[in-house]
Amino acid sequence: MKHFVALLAFALVINASAQTNYDTVRIRPLKITETIYMLKGAGGNIGFLKGEDGALIIDNQFGPLSGKIAQTVVEEGGGEIKMLINTHIHGDHTGGNDNFKKWGVTIVAHDNVRERMMKEGKVRDRVVPPRDKAAWPVVTFPDRMNIHWNNEDLELYHFNTGHTDGDVIIKFAKANVIHTGDMYVQYGYPFVDTNSGGGINGFIATLDQMLKIMDDNTKIIPGHGELASKKDVQAFRDRLAEIRDGVAAALKKGTKTEDIANLPIASKYDAEWGKGFVKGKDFVMMVAENLTKK
Ligand SMILES: [Zn+2]
Repeated sequence: MKHFVALLAFALVINASAQTNYDTVRIRPLKITETIYMLKGAGGNIGFLKGEDGALIIDNQFGPLSGKIAQTVVEEGGGEIKMLINTHIHGDHTGGNDNFKKWGVTIVAHDNVRERMMKEGKVRDRVVPPRDKAAWPVVTFPDRMNIHWNNEDLELYHFNTGHTDGDVIIKFAKANVIHTGDMYVQYGYPFVDTNSGGGINGFIATLDQMLKIMDDNTKIIPGHGELASKKDVQAFRDRLAEIRDGVAAALKKGTKTEDIANLPIASKYDAEWGKGFVKGKDFVMMVAENLTKK
């Protein structure tokens, strides 16, 4: 039995590492302007600004990819990375924080990202241990901050609790480029991480605020997915609001929370959105639980 358990544990480890083989991940740069790029690899999209002050990046995917990310920045003429902004706490966006900090990079994030990294957390049913001190952001802020770097004015906004309670949206004001973090994604139904302080009403309120700092020419770097435009974000916002309103109406009619998932509220979007890791029924249930929570 003991052997069986050991073997099983071993098989699980092998399986987990087989799922993400970082050795085969390539970091692919997409040039958006002369100085701003989107980098894709595994995990959340990275924003990258180059110039005479040194490179600034937004998010950094998983820890084992830090070397490749730094290498890509050098290859694209960015030189040394000096600044790093975390859009939120999740490990597919902040996994390399400790590496970059050791290399002398200044890490900027929302107050709650640092707070949550210092203690044990939970994402879905998985317990997430506190992050090593080396990963904690050193410059934090509650709702607004500007960074003036490489002749660009970066506006950092925290509008509301949405995907988590520490989401930051970054606007490159001169270039009219916005990195949304996971407040806008293309993997299907978005993940509202209620264990990390996220909420559906705040999610939609944040999208409304985000739309106000965009115009038809704004280029959008999503948390996950391809370069997008304001109308993509608007469509995403409208769909979420429609689902939220549908759930709210059912609750008002007296439908029990546990029965909400069986109503055809999100199902019309399943063909397009149901392929992601959040299923339509689960999304609707999450919205119902979130709306009934006091
Ligand atoms: Zn996330």
